[in-house]
Amino acid sequence: MALKTPQQYLDDLRRMNIELYMFGEKVENRVDHPIIRPSINSLAMTYKLALDPEYEDIMTATSNLTGKKINRFTHLHQSTDDLVKKVKMQRLLGQKTGSCFQRCVGLDAFNALYSTTFEIDQAHGTEYHQRFKKYMEYVQENDLVVDGCMTDARGDRSKSPGQQPDPDAYLHVVERRKDGIVVRGCKLHQTGLVNSHEILVMPNNSLKENEKDWAVSFAIPLDTPGMIYVYGRQSCDTRRLEGGTVDIGNVHFGGQEVMAIFNDVFVPWERVFMDGETDFTTMLVERFAGYHRQSYGGCKVGVGDALIGAAKAIADYQGTSNASHIKDKLVEMCHLNETLYCCGIACSSEGQKTAAGNYLIDLLLANICKQNITRFPYEMARLAQDIAGGFFVTMPSEKDFEHPVIGPLVKKYAASRADVPVEHRQRMLRLIENLTLGTAAVGYLTESMHGAGSPQAQRIMIGRLVNLEHRKQLAETLCGIRENPDIDW
Ligand code: SF4
Ligand code: FE
Repeated sequence: MALKTPQQYLDDLRRMNIELYMFGEKVENRVDHPIIRPSINSLAMTYKLALDPEYEDIMTATSNLTGKKINRFTHLHQSTDDLVKKVKMQRLLGQKTGSCFQRCVGLDAFNALYSTTFEIDQAHGTEYHQRFKKYMEYVQENDLVVDGCMTDARGDRSKSPGQQPDPDAYLHVVERRKDGIVVRGCKLHQTGLVNSHEILVMPNNSLKENEKDWAVSFAIPLDTPGMIYVYGRQSCDTRRLEGGTVDIGNVHFGGQEVMAIFNDVFVPWERVFMDGETDFTTMLVERFAGYHRQSYGGCKVGVGDALIGAAKAIADYQGTSNASHIKDKLVEMCHLNETLYCCGIACSSEGQKTAAGNYLIDLLLANICKQNITRFPYEMARLAQDIAGGFFVTMPSEKDFEHPVIGPLVKKYAASRADVPVEHRQRMLRLIENLTLGTAAVGYLTESMHGAGSPQAQRIMIGRLVNLEHRKQLAETLCGIRENPDIDW
């Protein structure tokens, strides 16, 4: 099988029986659950667009492992052009879903692990890279969704994994057997986890030599015994249970965040890609984070396009689009959004080949990209709310608009331009609410802040990667403190 259809993907999910909880109850059928289904629809879009000839160039790639055509979400980047196409693919999907489509964490984990396992093997004589290549062939051949799984529970933040009173605060190896390892712990904020076929675990952070049990990377199928999943709730999530479509805002799509508990889970050796190599944890974490910081220069820009469109539409519907300050606010939103895109493209274009052969983004520029992402979507959301006016948080519910007695009155007073149906105004205001305050705001705003590392994580990297001494020398040369070797005429 080269490329799966959305239907085949849904069938896969139905076949996997997992222990999933939401609102204190076990979920037996997650595929048809009204709160979960929109997030599955977002992922299904990654399959659908890969089969569309119009998007073939950005949605598919040729595997360096098998030479076959594969979904770009399972690709090991072979050039800077591949890195650029990844960002374009993510922008496209952000536009089409108006939400987080969840498949990028796996892609970013593949590329980080592919290069890191190669370098671990070179240094330690291990065989992780061959194992990982075999795993990637399986992923590509079956067109799988894999959840890249990094963030631990982390207990007391002032203590490192080895110092925690509860060692399970960070996922770790509790037993090594002849046939594999047993792990225990919990990974938080797992985007799209129960919509995935597989989980690919990585350590949370740089580790010290005496923290070998926490330096572990492996992959398991979602339905592995011992795995327990708890669904994260999101603002306005129960609107999906009300039965209508207007108040949801984004009718078909949404994101998903999950708490994943590893309750003494067995992993066979052929699925272990790191076990105790603490000296490579920094490399793995930085590369994964770097790729994911690049990703946001695509996905958030795509969702930003949808938000700009909603702001423009509501201005038209409400009769304010000719006001100069509204036009200027829309221009400002575009300026901010395209600046983010510039960052995503720049860190991709400046990528470099790794020792393993796949391409890594420019880490400094990827961190700059993500640092801007922690700010600009918030400003864009502020501008969209400014343009929308206050009705998106004071508007009566869909049911009031449909009520036989008060409905006509509510519609009469909710009307704006005579040639615009009241329901269009309702829907557009609800979409703005969804993107800036509701379920999609989790992906568009909070994840922009904390996903792929909170703002301070990027500032630490920027401080490390920028050569300030070089810049100081430039200044000293210009003002004559240093001799200028270039002046030889
Ligand atoms: Fe992909 Fe963006 Fe969602 Fe991360 S936040 S999984 S990059 S869509
Ligand atoms: Fe993310």
